[in-house]
Formats: sequence, C-alpha cells, structure tokens
Amino acid sequence: MSVNQQAHTGPPYGQPQPGYQGYQQPAYGGQSLPGVPQAQYGAYNGPVPGYQQPVPPQGSLRAPPTSGAPPPASGASHPSGHLAYSQFEHGDVQNGIPASAAPMQRPPASQPFLPGSAPTPVSQIPTFQQYGAPPASVQQLRNHMAGMTIGGTAASAPPPAGLGYGVGPSSYPPTTGAPRPPAMPGPPLPGQTVAGPPSSQPNHVSSPPPPSTMAGLHPGPPMSGLHGPPPPTHPPQPGYQMQQNGSFGQMRGPPPNYGGAYPGAPNYGSPPGPPPPPKRLDPDSIPSPQLNELPPQQKPRHRIDPDAIPSPIQVIEDDRNNRGSEPFVTGVRGQVPPLVTTNFLVKDQGNASPRYIRCTSYNIPCTSDMAKQSQVPLAAVIKPLAALPPEETVPYLVDHGESGPVRCNRCKAYMCPFMQFIEGGRRFQCCFCSCVTEVPPHYFQHLDHTGKRVDFYDRPELSLGSYEFLATVDYCKNNKFPSPPAFIFMIDVSYNAVKSGLVRLICEELKSLLDYLPREGNMEESAIRVGFVTYNKVLHFYNVKSSLAQPQMMVVSDVADMFVPLLDGFLVNVNESRTVIASLLDQIPEMFADTRETETVFAPVIQAGLEALKAAECAGKLFIFHTSLPIAEAPGKLKNRDDRKLINTDKEKTLFQPQTSFYNNLAKDCVAQGCCVDLFLFPNQYLDVATLGVVPYQTGGSIFKYAYFQLETDQYRFLNDLRRDVQKEVGFDAVMRVRTSTGIRATDFFGAFYMSNTTDVEMAGLDCDKTITVEFKHDDKLSEDSGALLQCALLYTSCAGQRRLRIHNLSLNCCTQLADLYRNCETDTLINYLAKYAYRGVLSSPVKTVRDALINQCAQILACYRKNCASPSSAGQLILPECMKLLPVYLNCVLKSDVLQPGPEVTTDDRAYVRQLVTSMDVAETNVFFYPRLLPLTKADVDSDSLPAAIRNSEERLSKGDIYLLENGLNIFVWVGVNVQQGLIQNLFGVSSFSQISNALSTLPVLENPFSKKVRSIVDMLQGQRSRYMKLIIVKQEDKLEMLFKHFLVEDKSLSGGASYVDFLCHMHKEIRQLLS
Ligand SMILES: [Zn+2]
Repeated sequence: MSVNQQAHTGPPYGQPQPGYQGYQQPAYGGQSLPGVPQAQYGAYNGPVPGYQQPVPPQGSLRAPPTSGAPPPASGASHPSGHLAYSQFEHGDVQNGIPASAAPMQRPPASQPFLPGSAPTPVSQIPTFQQYGAPPASVQQLRNHMAGMTIGGTAASAPPPAGLGYGVGPSSYPPTTGAPRPPAMPGPPLPGQTVAGPPSSQPNHVSSPPPPSTMAGLHPGPPMSGLHGPPPPTHPPQPGYQMQQNGSFGQMRGPPPNYGGAYPGAPNYGSPPGPPPPPKRLDPDSIPSPQLNELPPQQKPRHRIDPDAIPSPIQVIEDDRNNRGSEPFVTGVRGQVPPLVTTNFLVKDQGNASPRYIRCTSYNIPCTSDMAKQSQVPLAAVIKPLAALPPEETVPYLVDHGESGPVRCNRCKAYMCPFMQFIEGGRRFQCCFCSCVTEVPPHYFQHLDHTGKRVDFYDRPELSLGSYEFLATVDYCKNNKFPSPPAFIFMIDVSYNAVKSGLVRLICEELKSLLDYLPREGNMEESAIRVGFVTYNKVLHFYNVKSSLAQPQMMVVSDVADMFVPLLDGFLVNVNESRTVIASLLDQIPEMFADTRETETVFAPVIQAGLEALKAAECAGKLFIFHTSLPIAEAPGKLKNRDDRKLINTDKEKTLFQPQTSFYNNLAKDCVAQGCCVDLFLFPNQYLDVATLGVVPYQTGGSIFKYAYFQLETDQYRFLNDLRRDVQKEVGFDAVMRVRTSTGIRATDFFGAFYMSNTTDVEMAGLDCDKTITVEFKHDDKLSEDSGALLQCALLYTSCAGQRRLRIHNLSLNCCTQLADLYRNCETDTLINYLAKYAYRGVLSSPVKTVRDALINQCAQILACYRKNCASPSSAGQLILPECMKLLPVYLNCVLKSDVLQPGPEVTTDDRAYVRQLVTSMDVAETNVFFYPRLLPLTKADVDSDSLPAAIRNSEERLSKGDIYLLENGLNIFVWVGVNVQQGLIQNLFGVSSFSQISNALSTLPVLENPFSKKVRSIVDMLQGQRSRYMKLIIVKQEDKLEMLFKHFLVEDKSLSGGASYVDFLCHMHKEIRQLLS
C-alpha cells in the first residue's frame, strides 16, 4: 500500500509539477510552459552524439528522486484500486520490447512512478472556440424571414430519454437496387487525392465485422431529382433493415410541419436547387408505429423513421456506458480509445494518451493498395501541449545532461519505449529506421533476462508514451539559451474602440490580469515581461520603466517603416513597474476619450511588436485588440472587397484568400522571431478576417471575434476569453516533427502554423488548445508483426525560457484484411480530418468541388466496406461499418456548415473566421461543433450533478412545453417552448410569462431556486469544458431568433439548402450503389 501512497506524494522523476495559478479557471492543464523563441533550428536534427566507450550505467535524471519510494512492483502489491492497471507489467510485450516467459523482474528503483493512478473518472479536456456573435443582427434576420413562413413547431414530445433508439422491426427483407453506372468521382482538390476511385478489385476479403445494416434505401418512389432515379423495378419495401443494435428499422410519419416550412432544398454538393418533392421511401406499405403521435395533417405522408437510423446520441451513450468506468490503459498496441464524448482517465503505459494523439484508424493497411482501395484517410490529430485533468500526470521532464537526449544516429528519433537494446545493452536498434546506434556511456544499463533494461521503469523515455527532455544549447537558436518571452498588449484607440467602452474595459482588466501571467510551476513570479502600445493611424509606445514617476508616450507616425522608438523601458517586469503600469492603464482611456480618429492601421502594429521582440532578443506574443478594416495609408492597407455574389461561383475561394500577400511575408518574419499573434476583433462591419487572420494563423496564434460588441452583453465573454488566453499554457518558438516507422510517412499537415520545408511544422507559439492534424501515406509495405510507429517531437521554449522537447509515441497495428481496418476506425477523428481537408480545399477550389469530393470519398469508404467486408447476401442494403455508422450524419453536418454552405445570415468574415478556427480544433471540438449537444433542461434532475440525457438535433425532438440548451463550443442557446409552464419561466427567467422573457439576456438571472441553480450550473460546467467562452443566446419559440437556432438542428434540412440526415443518408446510399455497380 505504501508503494502507491508514496508514489503519489513525491513528484516522480523530479519533475516540477505544474502548479498553475490564475483566476479561478478550471484546470488548464497540466503544467505551465512558457517560452522563448528564436530562429534557426539547426540542431534540431541534430548533433550526432559520438559516444563510444561503453561505460558504467548511470542514468541521469535531472533531479534526484524526492521520495525514495520504490517503484511500483507487481500488481500484487498495489492496492486493489490499482489492479486495473496491471497491464503495466505486460505492456512491454506490445511495445516491441522482447519479453520472455520468465517473470519480469522489476529492478529496485529509486524513483516512484505511478503516474496518474487516480481512479476517478474526470471530465474531458476542455477545449474549443467560438465564433463570435452569431449574426444576431435582428435586421438581417428580419429581412431574411420576410419571405418565409416559419414552420410551426408543434413537435411531438421527444422520446423519453433512453428510449426511442430501441430495436425496430428487423424483418424487412432487403431489396436490391438495380445497378447503375458508376458515378464519376468529383474532381480532386488540387494537390490532393481525395477522389480517386477504388483502384482495384479487392484482394482482401475477410470475415465480416459486425455490420450496421440498412436495407436498401429502396427505390420506391422517386427520391427527388437530386437522388437520381432509383431502380424502377422494385416494389415498395421497407427501408432500413435491422441493424445490429436495432437502430434501423421502422418508418414513421413525417415530423410535424416538416416539409413545407423551409424554402431550401436539400443540396448535396451543389448550390441550392428547387425544393424536393415530398418524400421518398415508400410510405404506405410500412408500419408507422408512432403515427398516431403526429398531427393529423401529417399522417398521410411517411418517411424513414429517424429513430431507425444510426443515432449519434445512442452511440455516445453506449460508449459512455461501456468505456467510461475503466481507465484507458495505453500499454497495448493499436487500441482504439473511448470516444471524445466519454469521460475517462488515461494511464500511460507506453503509448501517448488519446488526449495528445488520436488516429483515424488504429489498424492501418499493410499496403498502399489496400489503403487506396479503402479510401480511409490515415491521419493523426495531435495536440502536443494538451491540458490534462488533474488526476493525470503531466509528462515527466528528463534531463540527460550536457549530451542531451539519446537519439538514433540515422533518423534522429528520440529514445522511446520501442527502441530495442541489444548486445547486452551496449547498442540499440531504432524502431523507426532499424539503424543500430551505440548507447552513450552515461546512458548504459544492463539488460535483464528478458532483454529489457533494468532501469526500464525508472526512465520515462523507456516506459511511457509521453515525456519531455530538457534540451541542450544545441537545440537553441544561435546556440544560445533563450530569454524568457514577452507579452505585448496593443490596443486600438480609434473612435469605435473608445466609444464602445472597449478601451477602458481592456485597461481595467489588464491591471489585475497582469498578475496572472503564466509561470513555471515552481516559480514565484512569471518571467514574462510586458509592453504596451496603443494605435489608430499612428502608433504610441510607452516607456513604463520602474524608475519613472509617470509613463512616457512616444508616437511613431511614420508607419511606412516601423521602428521601436525606445528599447529600455518598453518591456518590463510587472512587479517592478507595477506603479507606472497602473498609471498608464488609468491614463490611456482618458487620453483618447475625445478622439475623432476612425481610421486604423494593422500591419505596422504587428511589425512594431515584432521589432520590439527582435530588439529584446526574445520570443513572445502580441495581444492585438482591433476594431476595423485597416484603411489608413500604411503597409498592409486593405480595401473592402466583400462580395456575397461570389458565393457559389468559381471565385468564391477568393473570399477565403488574403487580399494581399503582404501578411504572408510578415507572418514568415514573425515565425522566424517566435512572435506569436493573438487577435481580438470587435467589428461592426466587414474587416476582412481572411486577411487579418493570416499572421495569427501562421504564427500559431488565435483569433477571437466579437461582432457588434456591446459592453453590457459581451464584456463577460470577452474578459473570460482574454483571461484564459493570457494565462494558458503556451510554448514559444516551437518546431514539431513527426517521425514514422518504415513504410509510412507524414505527407500533409493541417493547422495554425508555418512550414518552410516539407517536414517541420513551425509555430511561433503553440498553446494547450492547438491541434495539428497530420496525414500519412505509404511509401512501402508495413508488416502485421511490427505494426507502425509514430513519434511526435515538439521542440519549444517554456514560459520561463527553458528549451524543451516534448515527445509523444504511438504504436498502431497493421492489417492485411480490410475488415480489420474498418473495425478499428474512429469516426470523430475521421471527421476532424475531413473537415480540415475540406476547409483548406476551399482556398483553392470551388466549394461545390470540395463538397463533391467529400461525398465521393466517403461513399468510396463505405462502398469498399460493403464490397469487401459485408455479407454478400445483403446486396441492396446500405450496410455501414459499426465504427463508421455515424459517418453519414457527421459528414452531412460538415457539408452544411457555414464554410461549405453558408446561409444568408452568415457573413464572409464569419466564414473566414470559422474556417480558421476549425483548422486548429481537436477531435472533441469538431465533434460538438458539427453535431451540437442538445439537452432538455426541463428533464434535468435538480438533485443530481449529472446532465440530462442529450437528444438528437432535430426540431421534431423539441416539445413546446420544454426548455432546451444547445451548445456547439461557440454558442449556447437556451430555447424556450411556447407552452412552457409559467412556474418554470418564473424560476429560470424571473418573469411571469413567456412574452416577458427578454432575448437580449446574455446571462441567466441569478435566482434562488433549484431549477435556476441547476441550469446555471449546467451552463457553467459546459463553459468550463470549452476553450472559449460561449455566447449565451435566449431563443423563444416562434421568435425571430429561432431561425438562427434552427440552423444548429443539424439533422433537419437547413435553410441554406443543406440536406436532412435522412435525405443525406438516402443520397449516400445511392452513391454507394453506383460505386458498387
Ligand atoms: Zn532511426
């Protein structure tokens, strides 16, 4: 017992345990890092150590063990609560380390190491973004709605939680669709291979994995012109056949008021067309169990029962129930982790946690042919500095002294659990390239009889999937250890910024926020220095040197050739200059209170920050608060080139492209200096996010947007974002490289970064929320025996200026049977990849081409499964792989997202903004962004901490008598039905009737009753899980804002022409049948 207790008390491996301090924000993670930047990474691939003399074993961890506790011995000595982790002892087998039949001996070790053994499940990693105010412009909505009838919302009550996804009739015979000629794949995106048709006949047929089967979306009545004529010869048949879990099956009547209300037609990949004919799938011959629940006028029409098609809610629920209680132990190769929507703890036993890396598949095809045939993209979504729940251990910091980390001589891979020690431990064979490297003398250790080093469990880099190395000077720019980074706050003081109260708000906030700059866990104060600039058409620099009685302002009006007018006194330590800074922040709002200046510059602001960091020889971050299109005469000046008429034309892509290459060049300079830019935008009109976002995007920064910013309603959200952004864990001057074992290699990268070559991902800054998606391609054969390995190495500077390498390793299985591939896929990750891929595609291809390519690729993925893995008896059925049964519904959400199919209320800036946001999202964020979470608040148990069971995103699930919450990571809607009991309205809003509820509320009133408390606690909990503060919007049923809300009911047909889930599923089925015939 004592083993464990001790293991918990002392920081193992001498690692500074992060103690992040700040406002009361929830766990942002683990540890704090900070950083400093600089430019050349010559040493990254580095110094080839030439060690020769084998010498005495001597590990050199940076700090001595603090507790002296012995290492965890065998499972038997663990308290029972830890038995679940007993795989720890066996993980090596899978890790490619030789194991023998003999019992392994754990060497006595001086360092405890039982990372993250806390048994309690925790909530998932916080994440996410928000895209500013939805165009809440009432006027816009009004205009838009003028021509339309809002569908009545007489929805039938949602099925009781837990029901409704039950077993449907399963006996409908499948029918076969008549063959059709194969469809031509959509044109591939430039430079991509999305749409390649299956390249060959399947060579691999294997036993079918449990399929999710849908009987032919038969033919029956025409499915609307968009679907293409179904084979005419089939009698009407029941649609979906039974699926394994009973999800497919019956049909039932249409949802209330469904058909006629929306003008848009479903629209697969092409611009909105005429409204589709009512329904399809043979209506009348199908039992409709719920028919009598529907309004009478709806009864005559029938449609596929939405309860009979795969339900995201059910899949999420099932995974939670099946996998939420046990920790996910990473000792086994190729294990598919629980879904991102499941709360689970991770125990690192040799592979990186899914919080750091998630893959589209954990079993990848051995050959390139198989991979092409399946069309399943092989990609990893990597979040190198991910925040961890408090119960998990942040990566240990390992110090190998002056010689630095041990690496393979040839490929430079870092020491990891998969390296094989040979010749008694004197050499090791690289698991990535097979090259044999001498073990440096100081690193030598004997092997036990199983071939494992006796210090295996003492060394994170031998036994864990994730860890850090302290980098040597060879890994620093100019061979010089970096200085601590700086934060520069750059405030727009033009007329709009002042008048809205923004300038005063920012200055007030900074006074306290500066005490919460990130710091290394054990440091008393932050090492980060700060500086201040204000600007409109000219820039004002401030000298806030501690020796001054008052701050001094220096104006630079020649913005054409930006320079920093002062060096000494510009970047200062907060504590030393506290009085002068406070004085400055008091004076700024007064100084510009009467400004008439409406024009701003933008590029010179970034240049000023960049020059200041250069002069100080450090990396850092610029926090720029900006309100308008920079039209003042200056480099980087922009014009208003917004043009919605370009939507759905070949020129639509120009809306996403920067209007000048000036900012690309500036971004490159920033990256070289480690100058990361975070941009807070407060636009009242178009300000060209596509162009202004270039520098933040390429430097690894963030953009926050608060359209039509109003102090009363938006300040809380803005301040929360700002606080979190200033305090969060961030590394600077970062370079990431992903190495792979022979047979595959990283070929493509998606995210907020800059690349000057084909392998190194450079980021001036990288915070705990940023994700990089990496695609892999085969360059040789893989083998089932050895599997495939990934190693992600991130070199960065911490917030205190320490240069470090963070290493994540992951081992995957390889297969010769396609069925194994389909059994080990992760659809949420697949969607993350596909969305990023498509969102990049719109920069260079017409949006329609991008949508078609997505549909085509997914149809090929599913057709390949159908052809090679599913039972041959089910010819006309839509059969979905169990792991991919949500692919159609999620894909449809991507297709109808604002970037790929904008509604009339979506602005060009919104689209550019979302496009960039999504590109850095992790899997949990894209999941909820594309398929929002919808919770019936009136079903919440006020006496429990739990959330009410989520329901599907469809209007027909809403009841007039209930209140719902919908969140997508950017917004929270609270929807109130017209028939909600007056008591509930009183309790939640403090008013006596529905009509009195104000939809101008940006927060819920604080009322002392259980319902109000419960709802507010749910909102707070959701806010805590997301990386951006979500905007709260109250929507009353049948009110004008409801159109906005309905946009997020993603299973329904959308106003912009996006297909309903059911329609899209039919469409996919048709596409698949075409491919198969
Ligand atoms: Zn190697």
